[in-house]
Amino acid sequence: MYKKQRLTGCRVRAVPAGEVGAAAGPRTAVALVNHVDYRTGRLHDLPGTTAAVHAAGARVVWDLCHSAGALPVGLDEHGVDLAVGCTYKYLNGGPGAPAFLHVRRDLQPRFDSPLPGWHSHADPFALVPDHRPADGVARGRVGTPEILSLLALDAALDVWDGVEIAAVREKSLALTDFFLRCVEAYTASVGKGRVEAVTPQAHAERGSQMSLTCAGADAGGDVVMAELVRRGVVGDFRPPDVLRFGFAPLYTRFADAERAARVLADVLA
Ligand SMILES: *Cc1c(COP(=O)(O)O)cnc(C)c1O
Repeated sequence: MYKKQRLTGCRVRAVPAGEVGAAAGPRTAVALVNHVDYRTGRLHDLPGTTAAVHAAGARVVWDLCHSAGALPVGLDEHGVDLAVGCTYKYLNGGPGAPAFLHVRRDLQPRFDSPLPGWHSHADPFALVPDHRPADGVARGRVGTPEILSLLALDAALDVWDGVEIAAVREKSLALTDFFLRCVEAYTASVGKGRVEAVTPQAHAERGSQMSLTCAGADAGGDVVMAELVRRGVVGDFRPPDVLRFGFAPLYTRFADAERAARVLADVLA
């Protein structure tokens, strides 16, 4: 059933993210957890889960796709073993931007990449028949990098010079709070329950997106989102009924959040 079994021989068990810490036991090798759930926008407890998985004697891999660039993560601070993520969401690297890998420094000498390539070789131009992994995190590389994508990412990361991630987080929470207030106000007339926030209200449990369920079978969420996109409000739709709105705090304005909510109410009306 699970392809991952093929590489490791280990059994893969699906557990809700909030229960991963409690589910880890002596037979657990590694836990893979999404820091922010891509459907609901729920932020999971990285320090607590990491500590619980470590207490069970296992390692943890965090998927940071929806948190890198949106909120403080603290990989070193919390002793996270491994992390992966993409750079085209809140880091603004653009389509095709490269992914990233984090390997805790003390684990790097033992890190055995399942995808070795010539760029992870200690001496790539020696072109020898055996694979000798490079020192450090460079052994996580694979083949020739996409230079044009890296250049775009490099420029996107320049924008972060002098930016405090705590300030980004503060704006992100203010934006999503404001968006939700606007949605509640503007959609009050289209009927109670037509749209409902599934992203938690509690700041400690929220990433930088707002997911709304959109009930009503005649004009389902996919139709609603297509119309929003046509009117310049670009979110996306996840079956069965979730409208997702991502707020990249570096450049998304409160006026954008207000307009998104207003256009949503217009479409629903
Ligand atoms: C976007 C996303 C990815 C995509 O990663 P790629 O770099 O495009 O392979 C992976 N995991 C999650 C949870 C994501 O949201």
